Amino acid sequence: MTEQRAINGLAEMVAAGLVSPAQAPSLTPVEEAFRIRMTGAMRGRVLGVGDAVARQFVPEAAEMIIREEELADPIGDEVYSPVKGLTHRYPDRVILHVTKTCEVYCRFCFRREAVGDEGTLPDTDLVAALDYIALHPAIREVILTGGDPLVLSARRIKGLMDRLSMIAHVDQVRIHTRIPVVAPEKVTEALVAALRGARVWVVVHTNHAQEIGEAAEAALARLAEAGIPLLSQSVLLRGINDSVAALEELFRKLMRLRVKPYYLHHCDLAKGTGHFRTTIAEGKALMAGLRGRISGTLIPTYVLDIPGGYGKVPLVRDHAEPLGDGLWRITDWQGGHHLYRDPER
Ligand code: SF4
Repeated sequence: MTEQRAINGLAEMVAAGLVSPAQAPSLTPVEEAFRIRMTGAMRGRVLGVGDAVARQFVPEAAEMIIREEELADPIGDEVYSPVKGLTHRYPDRVILHVTKTCEVYCRFCFRREAVGDEGTLPDTDLVAALDYIALHPAIREVILTGGDPLVLSARRIKGLMDRLSMIAHVDQVRIHTRIPVVAPEKVTEALVAALRGARVWVVVHTNHAQEIGEAAEAALARLAEAGIPLLSQSVLLRGINDSVAALEELFRKLMRLRVKPYYLHHCDLAKGTGHFRTTIAEGKALMAGLRGRISGTLIPTYVLDIPGGYGKVPLVRDHAEPLGDGLWRITDWQGGHHLYRDPER
């Protein structure tokens, strides 16, 4: 297959035939509000305009519909940020935002107002964040996210792994990334070598089996064969993967590639993403449809990041009580209660 070029911006989307010239003017405000980028690998996985891969990256006019409940920081990263680049929400783990850059800009991104802006965390801020981690022995896990941490060079990743390995109380590093699927050529031998032997888990973000081509399969194999444990996270997306068949195909494919499905996220309340959001009841029905149909080892936990930064909870009865009419009482990990309303149809 011929290698495709990445697409940056609306004009290139039009040139690639993914947006019609007639549609383009209505999408200019979308481009002004949110970044647009799709890798060559993802372009190569599009089978038709508006399909399950295209819709994840091609802008739509619906993104300018900002609903009352949608937020600039839907999961509350900033609320729990003790120093720049760090989120410390739970006692035993922190999120280290090493970069704001991504290889793709997903139309449903929960950090869409933050990604793409500032690039890599400056070294002075990184040192301050590492000092904070070193001074807090309760922190046992460091989660690298961004943006996408694996946009950093293998040399920088190795340097970061080495620095984190010197903090005795950090048991585990978790890297959340879309790179192995959307830019598999970046999973180089040098990157694999940087991760090999580190106490690291890689959590691969992928939402549809159609995204995972031969190059992605090979990239995941390189990581698996280096002994790096692989998990997946997906976002439940209306019109893209909101069927038992689509989820089954994705999770079976991941299992064959030695990736354990970990999280299925309810789509967060990021601005302009309402057209992607299912109701919680729809998500729960899908999970029920998977139970018994596929092995329990393939079933991820369906979770909601409670808006405002109250943490993640599984969408099971103990944490999500239906109050009727699309209203839910969500109980956070500390026993606090929050009301959550499904999008109106
Ligand atoms: S790769 Fe992740 S952080 Fe980047 S735009 Fe997509 S969902 Fe957002």
